[in-house]
Amino acid sequence: MRSSLLALAVLGGGSVAQPTVPPIGPAGDTDAALPEHASDVADYTLYATLDPTAHTVHAEGQISWRNASTQPVRELWLHLYLNAFKNDRSAFLRERVGGRGSAASEDWGWIDVRKLALRDDTGGAVDLWPYAELHGPGDDDETDARVPLPREVAPGERIVLDVVFDDKLPIVVERTGYRGSFHMVGQWFPKIARLEPDGQWAHFPFHHLSEFYSDFGTYDVTLDVPQAFTLGATGPLVESRVEGGRRIERHVQTDVHDFAWTAWDRFRTMREGIDGVDVTLLYPPGFERVARRELATLRFGLPYYSARYGRYPYRVLTLVHPEQDAGEAGGMEYPTLITTGGAWLTPDGVHIIEAVTIHEMGHQWFYGMVATNELAWPFLDEGLNQFAEVDGLGKWRGDGSALDLAGLRVSDAALVAVHGAAAAHDEPVAQSASAFSSGTNYGRLVYGRTAALLETLTRVYGDDLVARALGRYARRYRFEHPGPDQLLGAFAEVLGPSVAATLRTAIFDEGWVDYVVDGVWSQEEKRAAGMFDRDGKREKVEPGPSDERGWACSVLLRRRGTLSFPVDIELAYADGSTRRERWDGEGEWKRLSWHSSVALRGAVIDPDDRVMIDGNRGNNHGTAAGAGSWVAPRTLERIAYWFELALQAVSP
Ligand SMILES: [Zn+2]
Repeated sequence: MRSSLLALAVLGGGSVAQPTVPPIGPAGDTDAALPEHASDVADYTLYATLDPTAHTVHAEGQISWRNASTQPVRELWLHLYLNAFKNDRSAFLRERVGGRGSAASEDWGWIDVRKLALRDDTGGAVDLWPYAELHGPGDDDETDARVPLPREVAPGERIVLDVVFDDKLPIVVERTGYRGSFHMVGQWFPKIARLEPDGQWAHFPFHHLSEFYSDFGTYDVTLDVPQAFTLGATGPLVESRVEGGRRIERHVQTDVHDFAWTAWDRFRTMREGIDGVDVTLLYPPGFERVARRELATLRFGLPYYSARYGRYPYRVLTLVHPEQDAGEAGGMEYPTLITTGGAWLTPDGVHIIEAVTIHEMGHQWFYGMVATNELAWPFLDEGLNQFAEVDGLGKWRGDGSALDLAGLRVSDAALVAVHGAAAAHDEPVAQSASAFSSGTNYGRLVYGRTAALLETLTRVYGDDLVARALGRYARRYRFEHPGPDQLLGAFAEVLGPSVAATLRTAIFDEGWVDYVVDGVWSQEEKRAAGMFDRDGKREKVEPGPSDERGWACSVLLRRRGTLSFPVDIELAYADGSTRRERWDGEGEWKRLSWHSSVALRGAVIDPDDRVMIDGNRGNNHGTAAGAGSWVAPRTLERIAYWFELALQAVSP
């Protein structure tokens, strides 16, 4: 699964191969070339009726699907992901590896397809569902079903399927389900897997750590709930009526690859136009203060992300703050609908509300519009999006972007660096979600390490270049399904092939780096002593001060690991002055030696903490022998700070 990226590998003696993907060019730096629409592949027209007492959804409608590959197909693959919660033998529940969704099921959930009928030219239809294979032999997982087709579907051909199905929702578990009368309905319909251009189906069971992958299309969904319920859903409301005690709403959205909705009879609502987008907030009673913070985040976030990653193309965005006891429904993204979380009393200086909001909003780009395969490459959505969060919150809230409380300011960037460092040598960042050893490492590497790597590139090479690389990637691959090659291609184009190769090593090969100050010397210049033969005479010179007064200074620097970045070295002198030197980071060590009129007291490598992934910041400074109790500027403070952060990262 990793071989497709080798085009960008560092070859032999350090020469760097160019990526094989076509160049994007400066056209990717502005919105002028953005596509208006996605290629329309899978369209769903559904009428769904909620029974909020039985927690069931009955739905009927059509799926219209086009073979967008170059190959004829004889089968369809359908994802029935609600079946992940059907019994303990599902792939999802067998894989309890920690993190969300790991608790024992309180109430099972499932989906029963009643009909999947392929329409023919004569107006008739043949039900394919009796022939469906819900699982392979000896496997009870029913989330990935194969449906043989009675005839070949040619490349470019479109088929229409009549579908009827019934959902039983679980008690809220990992993004979907109910709690009391609160309903968050995700992964609730039979969804056609994505057919890759080469005719291979990208189908897979619902794995515990994996999110989703599917084709773009139009969702035209009518929701039918009791009148007392407030609805939120993907896409703008185009029709609404109340009839026989029922509330009926039709939502239609083009250019998306999923549809989720929520219904609750206690939702409060706030609305606001932000940057041309109709924003709706649905939140529990008593959460007004939190809702206002979420709105403020979107007021910053929507225009900022639109400028950086291409304009937000949809008319609406709905934010759902779930009911307090339904926390697992929170912190999730769907097209034009996000769920957040956080307690009503969250202090203003604890920016968790803002972080979750901007994170889930960011997924409209990294997941929603740039629709990468979330099973194969989770770092492409969660990792890039986590970096976007770190960047966005940092631009908005500065050094206290994560925490700004009682004089303690902690940045989101520092948090992800500490989080990611904990697993840096365990396993690669760039691997399938189902390949991670634990939910904890998935979080540390996919989110933390990816974000810390990109933050490192930003601090070392400049925000303008990293923003341009990510902006080109996000604009060029809007409404497409890129992979790591496309991301690395954009970085190679903007920051050069060697930076792209560094990024490749870091994410595929557990790349790491540790800068070290291994020795600092400052000795008073002495005249050369000993026996000297001069003018035919042997003369003894006794040790003593040299005619040229001053100090011989030297610093030994090391770069351990497989990654390299240019770094600064700050030299601190006895008179309180400082001076900076630069090391390109090439080679495994470097010695700086010079004559100085003032004694050297110490040295710090990477004094501005640009290399956020430095494996050990404790060895980044050194003191000259005999320099007394000199302490490198900010070093103690920095060590205490990182130690504190490490404690925070391991606490719940
Ligand atoms: Zn995320």
